Amino acid sequence: YTGLKFSQWRMNIVNMIFPDDQNLFLEYTDPEFLRNHLESRRSTSIDCQMMNLEGKYIWVKLIFKKIQKADDSFCFVFMVQDIHDTSMKLIEDLKKYEEMSNRDPLTGIYNHGKIKEELTSALKRLKDDGTAVSLAMFDIDYFKNVNDTYGHATGDYVIKSISGMVNEYLSEYNTHFGRWGGEEFVIIANEIDSDELQHICEELRIRISNYKFSNVNQITCSFGVIGVTLGETSLQACERVDKAMYKAKSNGRNCVVCG
Ligand code: GH3
Ligand code: MG
Ligand code: MG
Repeated sequence: YTGLKFSQWRMNIVNMIFPDDQNLFLEYTDPEFLRNHLESRRSTSIDCQMMNLEGKYIWVKLIFKKIQKADDSFCFVFMVQDIHDTSMKLIEDLKKYEEMSNRDPLTGIYNHGKIKEELTSALKRLKDDGTAVSLAMFDIDYFKNVNDTYGHATGDYVIKSISGMVNEYLSEYNTHFGRWGGEEFVIIANEIDSDELQHICEELRIRISNYKFSNVNQITCSFGVIGVTLGETSLQACERVDKAMYKAKSNGRNCVVCG
């Protein structure tokens, strides 16, 4: 009991609530809403950030309950529960799960969905401000032989080793790297034209072919590279880079073809 009128109380509290959450608070404490939506049998709550006595925003649960009186009037009970520590942990866990949902479990690099999302963003930047974007796709040569000769676990080791090596090399460039599927990978290069990406892929091709995989003979990859053109859809760009990669396969593999 504050001795304040409800409307005064409401305005006092709303000023302590984090600006982004104020509308939510006002919605839940609107007299009309309380009358129509709050059941006297049960409480309702919202989570938001509120200023504590030290002037810091912390996560709280605001709990509302309507108490019905015999004469059909009602009073309204409002409680604040400090849930800061559990909320911060929850936010951290959710971030971790969000990050995991973007990653391929075998290699830890971006998965197909995330790469498609990044390609869409890159195409938007190209359209909005002309930021160059080029695309590479590569595939391990005769990979079926690796599985057939050394077993599936060794095949997995080769996929992991190649993605780790490529990921490390690309870390100094403005790129996104992901597993497109199976033993096929995609590189999205921002602010890098197709000539530069072709050089990068040539370097990667040499590194992979020189890498000594334990218990496995030489592994090579075939690369396709394109510069994405303005107005091209992500599907068209993917089809074009796929074509360039298959040209590298038909040219004898272990090479880079710019389409
Ligand atoms: P090419 O040079 O034409 O690319 O020949 P390839 O043998 O590499 O191509 P193909 O598409 O015939 O074989 C790809 C193989 O990759 C088939 C599939 O069993 C294997 N593969 C796909 N994903 C995985 C994986 O996650 N782990 C392992 N070990 N093998 C995989
Ligand atoms: Mg292959
Ligand atoms: Mg393949």
